[in-house]
This record gives sequence, C-alpha cells and structure tokens, in this order.
Amino acid sequence: MAPRVLFFHYVLTNTAGEELDSSRGGEPLGVLEGSRQIIPGLEEELFKMQAGDKKKVDVAAAQAYGPVYDQLKITIGREKLPQGDIQVGTRFRGGKEPDAPIFMVTKIEGEEVHLDGNHPLAGQDLSFDVEVTEIREATEEEQQHGHPHGAGGHQH
Ligand code: ZN
Repeated sequence: MAPRVLFFHYVLTNTAGEELDSSRGGEPLGVLEGSRQIIPGLEEELFKMQAGDKKKVDVAAAQAYGPVYDQLKITIGREKLPQGDIQVGTRFRGGKEPDAPIFMVTKIEGEEVHLDGNHPLAGQDLSFDVEVTEIREATEEEQQHGHPHGAGGHQH
C-alpha cells in the first residue's frame, strides 16, 4: 500500500495549558506517512483518523522530544565561544555538522557561560488539539521527494 499524505491543524499546549505553538491562522501542516517529519507519538495517532476528525492527542515526553540530558548542559569559558554579543537566549550550533545540536545560553557568570543543548520542549509532556483536513494517497512525486506537496506542504 502506498504511503499516505495527511494535512492537519494543531494547537500545541503543555500540561499547564499554555499554548506553545499553533497552525491556526495559517495553512495546515502536511506530513508524509512514515517520513518522521513530526514526532512519532503524534504521527501514529493522526494516521488512524479521517478527514474532518478532531482529537486531543497527549504525547508523553519520551514519545515527543525525549528527556532532558544533563550532559547537554555545559559550562564553558567565554573565550571559547564565537566573538560578539553573547546574552542569555543567544544560540550556537555545537559543531560544523548541519545536524549538530543547538546550544542556548542560559546563564552568564563573569567569564563562565552556561549552555543547554536540549530541545526547548525536551522533558515536557505535550498535548496536541488536532483536526485532520485532508488525507489521501501520496503521489509518486511526493514519495520520491519524501514530503507532501501543495498548500501546507512543500512549494517548489
Ligand atoms: Zn517535492
């Protein structure tokens, strides 16, 4: 069976009910089945749904962005960082590889800079209010490209 393409709207909240992200007001998000474009716990639930279905999907941290790793929280001397303005919230890529983790400055104490390379949503249980707007078989082209096309998908 060919993989499917699914488009959906979502509102993402944490366990405190705070809204973290939303697709409302824009195009729905497109996802190709099995492509790991979105967190696995959410993808699995979405592909059980039909167009028009609404559902609240709770995803535990382990199935979302994973746990917080203490070894990704590091303290280094300011002189080892790129020169320039360094403030709390400044982000650096932790290596030259495109998939190297992004480290964010969390605290500055004199010449010591505290960095955290965890995903901002790591360790958080998440809740997605989702509405599926369309589900269909992926075209040959979408399967070759590994992503959905059209509004909400890739534009070429
Ligand atoms: Zn494409």
